[in-house]
Parts: sequence; structure tokens; C-alpha cells
Amino acid sequence: MSLDEVFAAYNGGAPLPPRAALVTFDDGYANNAAVAYPVLQRLRVPALFFLAIGYLDEPWFWWDRLREGLRLVGKTPRREDYAAIKALPPRAVEAAVDAHLHQAGAPLQPEALPWMRPLTWEEAQGFARAEGVFIGNHGDRHEIFARLNDTELALVLSRTQRLLALRLGVETPWLAPPNGEWRSEQADVFVRSGLRYVFGTQPGWVRRGPRGVDGRSASLVVLPRLGVGAEDTPWQLLRRLLKTYWRPESPARAPANS
Ligand SMILES: [Zn+2]
Repeated sequence: MSLDEVFAAYNGGAPLPPRAALVTFDDGYANNAAVAYPVLQRLRVPALFFLAIGYLDEPWFWWDRLREGLRLVGKTPRREDYAAIKALPPRAVEAAVDAHLHQAGAPLQPEALPWMRPLTWEEAQGFARAEGVFIGNHGDRHEIFARLNDTELALVLSRTQRLLALRLGVETPWLAPPNGEWRSEQADVFVRSGLRYVFGTQPGWVRRGPRGVDGRSASLVVLPRLGVGAEDTPWQLLRRLLKTYWRPESPARAPANS
């Protein structure tokens, strides 16, 4: 099944089979292509991969560089450290990671781990053309949209949409704001940038659409997602699925305002 069929069903077209699910991956790790894709292909499951394209060709996402650097000196980053760095303007993030590592006596550029690095552009080009692979926008440097003003956000989105089109040949209507943090007023900026489907991090089940965001932009569809972590067991996932099933339908609304 293609994503077009999924969204056609969502918009009132032919219904999906019962218990249909759409699989998505965030960030653009090399392991999405090397590890996840062969499994998906074998099971004939299409998937949507959200890329933070500013990290393609780099050895680390900032949060992994922080964790791995500290691990090498026997430390673990604290929750507050992640939160403090996320709160910084995007261009100050890497320097703040350097400062944390320096202070801990850790290497600033730990040796890259093959399974934890971002994709390269070259890999992404091949991956974007692979059967059953769909590419979405996950920002440039994984910046938190809720902290950007409209001009900054419009710049990030026009840059990323342009590079996805130029370098991967992808015109994507799918957006996953990093950390699922955005403001409902930003819906119009998304739509103006050609992004029509916003995937959040709020858990929930999707029923029929379409719905607007707080009545502002009816052309934007906001979709919940059920998070699955690397350490989750099938039982934990099942419990989470059932817990969200009984909840009333998630409101189509930006999380930062809820
Ligand atoms: Zn992310």
C-alpha cells in the first residue's frame, strides 16, 4: 500500500483494511536504511522517514554526541542538560554540547558509531528512491519550532523543502516538528511551505479526517503518533496501544498550546 492510498482513505476515499498502521521514523539515522529498511521490505511495509537534513553527512546528532562523549568518561547526561541545550537558539546548540563535554573532560568528537550516525546525503539519495520509502521534513538542525518566530520558521522550512527537492528529488507534504513542539499559529507557515500533514508526538488513533488546527488552517492535517522506543518490549507497546484506544479522539491542536 502506498502513502497516497493511506491519505486518500483519511480524506474520505477507499477505506483501509482494519487495524491498518503507518510506520514512521524520525531524525534520519543511517540504521533506518541499513537495519530497518530490509525488514520493512521483507514484510512489504512502506514507511515514512523524517529527516533532519542539517545533520546528513555529520558523524553525530547533538544528543548522541553528548551521551557518547560522556559515556567515554563514565558519565551520563542529566535530563536537565538535554532540556537546557534544547532551549538554546539552534546555532548555539553544538557549542553548548562542546562546553558540556569539555567540562566533563570528555572528547568533543567521539569516534562515530556506525549504527548511530545520521545518513549521508549520498545514502539518502539512494534511500529516497527505494521502493516503499517516503521522505518527510524533520527540520534542518532539529530545531524546536515552538521556539522560533514565524520568519525563522519560514526560513528553516523553505531551506529544508528546497534541499529535499534539489538533492533528493522529493517534494514532501509531510512534516514532523522536532520533539513534536510547535505552536498552532505556525500552521499557516507550514501550509505556505507546502507542508500539509503534521505528525505529532501525542499518542492517539487516527479516525477519518480532515480536520484543521484550531479552525485556523483547514488545509493542515494534524496526526497523532504512538512512540516506539528502541528498548520497548512488544508488551509495553500493546499496553500503550490499548491505553490510547479508549481515549477520546486527540484534538487537532498544537501541543505547545494545549
Ligand atoms: Zn527528532
